Amino acid sequence: MALDNTTRLQYLEAMGVDVWIPIASAPVGQMLTLHSRAVDELPLALPPITPPVIAETDSRTTPLSQSASDETWLTLESQVSACTKCSLCETRTQTVFGTGCKTADWMLIGEAPGQHEDEQGQPFVGKAGLLLTEMLRAIGLQRDDVYIANILKCRPPGNRDPKPDEIALCSDYLRQQQALVKPKIILAVGRIAAQALLQTDAPLSKLRGKVHQLGDIPLVVVYHPSYLLRSLLEKRKAWQDLQFAVKTINRIRG
Ligand code: URA
Repeated sequence: MALDNTTRLQYLEAMGVDVWIPIASAPVGQMLTLHSRAVDELPLALPPITPPVIAETDSRTTPLSQSASDETWLTLESQVSACTKCSLCETRTQTVFGTGCKTADWMLIGEAPGQHEDEQGQPFVGKAGLLLTEMLRAIGLQRDDVYIANILKCRPPGNRDPKPDEIALCSDYLRQQQALVKPKIILAVGRIAAQALLQTDAPLSKLRGKVHQLGDIPLVVVYHPSYLLRSLLEKRKAWQDLQFAVKTINRIRG
């Protein structure tokens, strides 16, 4: 689903990211009327952070190891698409495996597919997904720069919260995805993902703003975009979470 510039602007504003145009180029009397300009042309007035470096393809990867890992990915994906470990297989339209760069530095983990994801077979493609894309853009990342997956590969009926046994039965797929991607940082997107990954009942307010570890990978908790769509008051905090994640990965890289 394409996001028109006006909507993009509204999303960025909802996140608390100031978007501005140079006064000299704005028509007199419309200096603060932003919606008539393509957002692509607009500079973002962001707090000073060093944008993350996008890793280049590793030239040492031999065709042999590449094809071995391609095969592992394919096997894993077909296991997921045929999975009947829990009752969600009875109500799903299809499984939602994960998308993006399979050697990404950033791995984003959400909760579970919703209606649009279940229909399209891809994570974060509904309204929340569009906002997630904008959140990534605001820190200089495209969706193709990161790997995105969910705790659950199937939609819980009516978008109810995942049940503990569903999370447990699905966890090995995510563990294998993480082992294949080998990200430098994991973003747990929202409370449910954070609590499941960190095996805690702590509220989001206690989990954000800290660097946790998932195995040997640093994990940072960020607000779920669906929550932001409901509660614009938290928009600044979401932006702080993203800045914190960028600082964390930049510190890791030295
Ligand atoms: N919310 C999630 O946590 N994941 C999705 O894929 C979509 C919405």
